Amino acid sequence: MTWSISVDAGSCLGSGICAGSRPDLFRFHGSYAEPVTSTVAPDEDVLDLADTCPAAAILIRDQSGAELAPRP
Ligand code: SF4
Repeated sequence: MTWSISVDAGSCLGSGICAGSRPDLFRFHGSYAEPVTSTVAPDEDVLDLADTCPAAAILIRDQSGAELAPRP
């Protein structure tokens, strides 16, 4: 099973929290972050990062397309 991971470039504030915490998953593209790969193995850490993003710009979906994070 894999999850999809994406960053809304229009919402990203460029805080660097995601890329600083998990450079294996996020990198900077100019002034905003982007995922290194479009899918990721299920990992609670990834959900926590999506919850922590100050812009709620990181979106994690499961294979059915259901939104897993950011969580309400
Ligand atoms: S934590 Fe959110 S706002 Fe900060 S760089 Fe990553 S995606 Fe952008």
